[in-house]
Amino acid sequence: MERESILERLRREALETDLLDRARDYALAYAAGVRGRRVVPDADALSGLGSLPAVLPEEPMDGKRVLDLLHRFGSPATVAQTGGRYFGFVNGGSLPTAVAARWLADVWDQNAALYVMSPIASALEASCEEWLVDLLGLPAGSAAGFVGGTSLATLCGLAAGRDELLRRAGWDCGARGLLGAPEIRVVLGEQAHASVYKSLGLLGLGRDRVEKAPVDDQGRILAKRMPKIDDRTLLILQAGNVSTGSFDPFSAIIPAARAAGAWIHVDGAFGLWAAASGRHSHLMEGAALADSWSADAHKTLNAPYDNGIVFCRSREALATAMRSSGAYFVLSESRDEMTYTPDMSRRARAVDLWATLLSLGRSGAAALVEELCANAALFARLLAAEGFTIANEVVFNQVLVTCGSAEQTIGTLTRLQTSGECWCGSTTWNGAPAIRISVCSYVTTPQDVERSVRAFVSAREGAGR
Ligand SMILES: *Cc1c(COP(=O)(O)O)cnc(C)c1O
Repeated sequence: MERESILERLRREALETDLLDRARDYALAYAAGVRGRRVVPDADALSGLGSLPAVLPEEPMDGKRVLDLLHRFGSPATVAQTGGRYFGFVNGGSLPTAVAARWLADVWDQNAALYVMSPIASALEASCEEWLVDLLGLPAGSAAGFVGGTSLATLCGLAAGRDELLRRAGWDCGARGLLGAPEIRVVLGEQAHASVYKSLGLLGLGRDRVEKAPVDDQGRILAKRMPKIDDRTLLILQAGNVSTGSFDPFSAIIPAARAAGAWIHVDGAFGLWAAASGRHSHLMEGAALADSWSADAHKTLNAPYDNGIVFCRSREALATAMRSSGAYFVLSESRDEMTYTPDMSRRARAVDLWATLLSLGRSGAAALVEELCANAALFARLLAAEGFTIANEVVFNQVLVTCGSAEQTIGTLTRLQTSGECWCGSTTWNGAPAIRISVCSYVTTPQDVERSVRAFVSAREGAGR
């Protein structure tokens, strides 16, 4: 009998269910154990990574064996991000319906560049755009581009702003580039996120030629001390400081900046979602008067990763900045997704987002935001009762914690991070080290918060008072 060729084998595997069954079994086993296990992998789990193949083998590997490797050595070396006691950075969770929808979409393997490549992907993006603009209280008709994360979303928003400011000054930046162009000023808060600087570098606007607006002790721009804004200014504001969770005072800044002719971008990676909750939308007051906004559905909204969004008041400005040829600007009846993003081929990430939004509904989105904030407030209350210092005003989902001295804060954090009980990151706030808690997963319960506070107390004891 003739030996099966490699491609024959792959085609046969595509019709078999056991590969996907196995993936499902492993995934369910992982999910069943994740709440009980260590938050960070231990030394054994990390050394298991050495058992993964070091060299690309000459011969194809059986699919089941590939999955076995991933589950046996990969699963234990994950961070238990979905276990309820991970409070690092600002990461988020992933809602069950969204994960399930993503699995289905992975089997579809749609290319979400153009309507003709995937009518379903295009239709879901169109719905997500409409629903999100409404949910977040942004100007009706705003465009949304679906990208990998807020870093890219900010890049898109600032590209649209740069090109539009230059267009108004009689310069076609897309065609002529920046060399010889009229000067564009960039004004941002002293506490702007690192990703904003990355975008400015990529866009040729320079990381170092920014004008920084002074901020208060929560990282909010001081409206009274804003540099003068004019019609050549890109102004970048923030909804949700990664350390304190604070929001810039939009109402005190944006109307005047608008009147001056600036382009205003709001980095709202996790904070933009405050607008979805009646209890927290006051933080976003006035933000909808900006020109563009960036947000991560994979943070506060608990969509799986790879769900960033750029919103732009002017559909044309975003499409112009993202166009792929001089003549390319078609607003067709059906949405061509690449009109609004830098990439062409990409997966249909709107499937996850659409499923996330449907699974929450408006009330679920509000409840999610409120619960994250309530758990952050509980964290702060319980830690304060244990003698920790809460170094920020807990206005949203971020809590900054310090101990008696800088050494003690660092010692406590180090022990906490290796404890496996919970995981928090660090920052420097007002010149001193601080432990940074971000509550951003729907999985986290008040019991998780209580257990984590006990871990803080033990870590501080271990560090010596
Ligand atoms: C997370 C975050 C970013 C970067 O978003 P990515 O999705 O990681 O690219 C930018 N700004 C703020 C305020 C953030 O919290």
